[in-house]
Amino acid sequence: MALIVQKFGGTSVGSVERIQAVAQRVYKTVQAGNSLVVVVSAMGKTTDGLVKLANEISRNPNRREMDMLLSTGEQVTIALLSMALQELGQPAISMTGAQVGIVTEAEHTRARILHIETERLQRHLEEGKVVVVAGFQGISSNGELEITTLGRGGSDTSAVALAAALQANFCEIYTDVPGILTTDPRLVPEAQLMAEITCNEMLELASLGAKVLHPRAVEIARNYSMPLVVKSSWTDDPGTWVTTPKPQGRSLVNLELARPVDEVELDTDQAKVALLRVPDKPGVAAKLFGEIARQQVDVDLIIQSIHEGNSNDIAFTVTTPILKRAEAVAAAIAPSLRSPTNPKSDEAEVMLEQNIAKVSIAGAGMIGRPGVAAKMFATLAEAGVNIQMISTSEVKVSCVVDALDGDRAITALRKAFEIATSSPVPNPQSPVPNPPVRGVALDLNQARLAIRQVPDRPGMAAQLFGILAKHNISVDMIIQSQRCRIVDGVPRRDIAFTVPRIDGETAQQLLTQVAGQLGWGDVVLDSAIAKVSIVGAGMVGQPGVAAKMFDALAKHQINIQMIATSEIKISCVVSQEQGVQALQVIHSAFELAGSEKFVVPA
Ligand code: ADP
Ligand code: ASP
Ligand code: MG
Repeated sequence: MALIVQKFGGTSVGSVERIQAVAQRVYKTVQAGNSLVVVVSAMGKTTDGLVKLANEISRNPNRREMDMLLSTGEQVTIALLSMALQELGQPAISMTGAQVGIVTEAEHTRARILHIETERLQRHLEEGKVVVVAGFQGISSNGELEITTLGRGGSDTSAVALAAALQANFCEIYTDVPGILTTDPRLVPEAQLMAEITCNEMLELASLGAKVLHPRAVEIARNYSMPLVVKSSWTDDPGTWVTTPKPQGRSLVNLELARPVDEVELDTDQAKVALLRVPDKPGVAAKLFGEIARQQVDVDLIIQSIHEGNSNDIAFTVTTPILKRAEAVAAAIAPSLRSPTNPKSDEAEVMLEQNIAKVSIAGAGMIGRPGVAAKMFATLAEAGVNIQMISTSEVKVSCVVDALDGDRAITALRKAFEIATSSPVPNPQSPVPNPPVRGVALDLNQARLAIRQVPDRPGMAAQLFGILAKHNISVDMIIQSQRCRIVDGVPRRDIAFTVPRIDGETAQQLLTQVAGQLGWGDVVLDSAIAKVSIVGAGMVGQPGVAAKMFDALAKHQINIQMIATSEIKISCVVSQEQGVQALQVIHSAFELAGSEKFVVPA
């Protein structure tokens, strides 16, 4: 007999008939000899409707009252599903987050789970009942019994956290698509179903906009090695398994807060090539990385950001032994990248930097927990280490620093994150080799901020991202311009990054308040952007992947405003109106389309 946690999303419980169909499925699973905890979302678009009501009353609704309001949606579903089960003769009981004892931080609208009290739940299970739990909600730990919610889409997180706390055999997420697809089938109907995906890949996809799983649900599945499968509510098909690493023996206390970092890494075998002043027009990155791929130069990190004026800097890192080859390619291509209107004055220039090292922290939920990257930057600042390049992703944050600072940086980071020795968490091995690109994601809810002329000295990233982390604002694609400009005798660089759009104005205000005092220039906000990303563990050591992505965009005259990569993802910022087209052309360039078309039920 297995203990299973099943979760049903909004569409799957969107009507009385659908709730009855869910009850039938649950009943069958119990009849097959299993114990069952069922987590449900609010019916259909109920939560959206409640948010709309709140916005009709207030432009900026109180967060506590928001939780009070939104948590009602799930409470309707649990009662109806329990009744439907009882009608089938199946004993069942509904429980709110508070009744179960899903204890969270007191952070309204985005609380993380601290622990789950399982006694009462276990008792009902032992009595042969199905326990139907309200997803997305909990109760605060501060003794005030405040209702909290986990953030939109958070029922997935409730389900996996319950599975971990109960040490269930596995957790099933039932939804309105057949599983995890190569991209959102609402935007690309030819998207293909995958049989499995590693949790690191899924963490990246979820954090980059693939709504099918809440990123924090994947984080918990990874940390507690909870087998997780995403399936269709309408069929009995096997769905997609998310593969997790071996158990790490984590405590269930501070379930979503403890130990975000489980590894600190140093790579001294790095060199950087930068091309300065390349024209800001479609096709430039495609041309450069196309040639690099043809010469079999394997590139590690790539960054590109718009500089003041209308030209870009593109920088990439390679391993030292192939630096010569990389330099030769860059030097050969630079003349052809001159601005056609002004070929003399604005010449692309190649810059090399040999004595660099890459220091990284690895774990899960790095973007979702903004305090983690901020702590890394603060630790480096305290150790007097200047950061040259930053790469962020949900599973890793890396900083390129001077090679002489490498050991000092690593020692400081190990101490700060309490990492005794380097004990890598093994990545789950796929029975089949990883494809270079597993999936493509689009995020239309991002904004870009740029801070002009930030003094280039240790501590600036720590100040900047420390302020944002204090307000829980997640940051991605942090890019410092390669060009340095001397103003008032101080070398300065522009820093650009992306934040969730709803945080854009707040972030701009917070940073503008301190800009004068810290000697920064203007803080500029652009909300009309889209972020399109490819994810795949197999892209490591495959020189042509980036080139193919850039080429697909160039062929359709889509200009790339920013590029940022980490080991298993490449993200590009493009204009908002070209976002969907960008997703479609990239999906098709990597031949991810299948022959079947998906129609997602309303
Ligand atoms: P639920 O209410 O069941 O939690 P969601 O709407 O939160 O469902 O998530 C399912 C939706 O996620 C799908 O209908 C689909 O439009 C979207 N989606 C985005 N990216 C993907 C992907 N890579 N694979 C599957 N679905 C995706
Ligand atoms: N009902 C909540 C939402 O719509 C939680 C969820 O469905 O996961 O965001
Ligand atoms: Mg969901």
